[in-house]
Amino acid sequence: MFNVDKIREDFPILKRTVHGKPLVYFDNAATSQTPQIVIDTIVDYYSNYNSNIHRGVHTLSQEATDKYEEARIKIQKHFNAKEAYEIILTSGTTHSINMVASGFASLLNKGDEIIVSALEHHSNIVPWQMLCEKTGAILKVIPMTDEGSLDMKTYHNLLNDKTKLVFSNHVSNALGTVNPIEEIIAAAHKVGAAVLIDGAQATPHIKPDVQALNVDFYVASAHKLCGPTGVGLLYGKQEWLEKLPPYQGGGEMIATVSFEKTTYAGLPHKFEAGTPNICGGIAFGAAIDYMNSVGFDAIANYENELLEYGTSELLKIDGLKIYGTSAEKTAVISFNVNDIHPYDIGAILDKLGIAVRTGHHCAQPIMDFYKIPGTIRASFSFYNTKEEIDILVQGVKRATMMLS
Ligand code: PMP
Repeated sequence: MFNVDKIREDFPILKRTVHGKPLVYFDNAATSQTPQIVIDTIVDYYSNYNSNIHRGVHTLSQEATDKYEEARIKIQKHFNAKEAYEIILTSGTTHSINMVASGFASLLNKGDEIIVSALEHHSNIVPWQMLCEKTGAILKVIPMTDEGSLDMKTYHNLLNDKTKLVFSNHVSNALGTVNPIEEIIAAAHKVGAAVLIDGAQATPHIKPDVQALNVDFYVASAHKLCGPTGVGLLYGKQEWLEKLPPYQGGGEMIATVSFEKTTYAGLPHKFEAGTPNICGGIAFGAAIDYMNSVGFDAIANYENELLEYGTSELLKIDGLKIYGTSAEKTAVISFNVNDIHPYDIGAILDKLGIAVRTGHHCAQPIMDFYKIPGTIRASFSFYNTKEEIDILVQGVKRATMMLS
């Protein structure tokens, strides 16, 4: 039985107040909160075995190396990668995408086509535009529909033998839409294109199985699933990681170095130049353990209840419009009230202790599609409650009255 009161005890930050009011944290799509067990892991690392990894003979270095590599295996198991060395630890989703985009610069030719979805975060648009500028490849876009889903008929028509790469997020950060990635991947493979899925917003709610998906690259950030900032993963199929050149040169990523010739280390080290975020990687492993101890089915069921409740309560407010109404959604509600600027409502909600995100959510093309400057985005996590949603609804009503 899912016990939210007990779960809330795991998150010390949920006890704090903001402007004298209990914190209501609904900005989970931007970053999630950190349970005590992950905080303890970070404190333990710096208190007891802080040390550089992979090259020390001394005890601290060996302990840190073991814990870091154990974390990689936890991540491998969680995502069901075939091999631990297919998990590259990065500084997060943005870093992971840039690694792949930069690697493909040497594999693409002028006139090759790459397809990106209209629902992307800027971090899954800009690196591909940069790649097109470098290589002369052409960027095509899968359009979106009014309900905030992908127009899959057009996607199938866009695919052809010039298509080399396809990118989509698993879940849209601005609207919460869950994209049909199984269909996207299978169709891309039929024309021989590789697929990168941005799982930044999916991984807090869904446990992806990269082998079952048969995806070529899957990327995510630890801070969205109860881990620390500055760490994330790039999963890549071994054959692709071997094909791509290294992203950065430096220590850790080499086999031998001389001024005449350097040879590169094997996977995953080829892509992990320099001292990594050691503590972050270990804490990422702890966060994955924590999320699995709560259970992804329980998380999805409970968050779905919050989504249904929040949607029906918010829609009772006059003039409130929700953007992103697809049947397949995670617990994100993106909305506006009449033509009030989202920032003005967000600022009043903050005074009431309620944290929401306002603006374009790094997804300007979606806002352009709806012809709006931005939205108010309330994104729920498994530690939120219906009582907190009631506080949000009252807050939005109050802000609307003040601003009308
Ligand atoms: N993609 C999506 C869908 C996101 O929601 C985010 C974070 N908002 C990113 C990419 C970028 O993640 P990060 O800032 O952790 O690199």
